[in-house]
Amino acid sequence: MAKPDDVNHQDNNCDSGQKLMPIDEALQLLIKNANPITETETLPLNEAQGRILAEDISSTINVPPADNSAMDGYAIRSVNFSNADETQLPISQRIPAGVMGTELERGTVARIFTGAPIPAGADAVVMQEVCTVVDNQPTNNNDIKITGPIPVGNNIRKAGEDIAIGDTILTTGTKLKPQDIGLIASVGIGKISVYKRLQVGIFFTGDELREPGETLEPGQIYNSNRHTLRGLLENLNCEVIDFGTIEDTLEATKTAMLKAAESTDLVMTSGGVSVGEEDYVRIALEEIGQLNMWRINIKPGKPLAFGNIDTKNGRKPFLGMPGNPVSVFATFCIFARPFISEKQGASETQANSFMVAADFEWPKAGKRHEYVRARVEENVVKLFPHQGSGVLTSTSWANGLAVIPAGTTIKPNDLVEFIPFSELSVA
Ligand code: AMP
Ligand code: MG
Repeated sequence: MAKPDDVNHQDNNCDSGQKLMPIDEALQLLIKNANPITETETLPLNEAQGRILAEDISSTINVPPADNSAMDGYAIRSVNFSNADETQLPISQRIPAGVMGTELERGTVARIFTGAPIPAGADAVVMQEVCTVVDNQPTNNNDIKITGPIPVGNNIRKAGEDIAIGDTILTTGTKLKPQDIGLIASVGIGKISVYKRLQVGIFFTGDELREPGETLEPGQIYNSNRHTLRGLLENLNCEVIDFGTIEDTLEATKTAMLKAAESTDLVMTSGGVSVGEEDYVRIALEEIGQLNMWRINIKPGKPLAFGNIDTKNGRKPFLGMPGNPVSVFATFCIFARPFISEKQGASETQANSFMVAADFEWPKAGKRHEYVRARVEENVVKLFPHQGSGVLTSTSWANGLAVIPAGTTIKPNDLVEFIPFSELSVA
């Protein structure tokens, strides 16, 4: 059982005095301003996975289309096998899947295979394992012995049992999973209308940043946010347009913002949103658009810039993430993901969580709502021991975020809310 070593101690002095915005309020504001995309495109099914459906899909056929056999066996008239005796009848026809039989002759049975249509006159199927074949050599016209009673409908899959003509099978806003694509295929529809992919322009601030593969000079670090953010966006099926790392100057920041905003649906950045002298994102946005700088009651990731950039192509939304790598990750999961999902036209934007027993202690109540990197294993939740906002290792080790509300202490075995990464599209 672990005690986190560097949590709780650093609710830094920025909190003092100023009221922080509750997380729910920030989320509601984001969702309210998301302005979902309306442009659609028609795609073949094999290109539609992960996209958001822009129409309700209803079926023009029954699935299955006809009553059919659920087993390999014999199609019968149940009246021939109504009592508990063994009855022997001849086989009059053979019906594989894909073949329409003929009406079942009275006093006979039909050999039938899984998925084959039930012939007219038959009202039940008996699985081959409980039938005895009587070999009538040399005629080759075998008989079958079956012990009754066999109920009407036995082993028959009814026409329309899964989907009936006119049923709505999927609704607008559904994010298409493999099984949804299969479902659409099962009613014979090959092309569907989906919302256009969101184009997200990204760039990164920080003169200290270098790219992986380059040599670091003293004082420099690698630009990890670029790679994390790109992956997070691609997992949400966004089209990423990467404008690279820009100089820490006001001019460069404004130029990059405008360029990115002109050609995309949303601009996202990391770093430069604090109140330091080298933080130009905030000032740039105030000069070329509108800024809402939110100091949110969340840890990690308190400062989040949200606003608009005014371009000749209209107003484009802007999300300025913090610079610290773990803050970028957490802020994306909690704020950017639902905002982007809403903007993409998805009807489900909320991440589901569950309660799980703590295998850790949280001895000191914090002032902010914390999303700690955690791992559910064997039905308990463990914490990564180093929860600092620069410790990216914690995000790789974790399989979700545990939620520690402000003012809460936790003892081992207390129930804790856990949001699995799969719910946050980062699995
Ligand atoms: P800032 O908000 O610009 O002051 O950045 C906060 C912290 O995050 C600083 O330690 C930065 O060096 C670090 N940081 C900013 N951008 C990145 C990035 N793209 N990748 C990794 N670390 C970053
Ligand atoms: Mg910076």
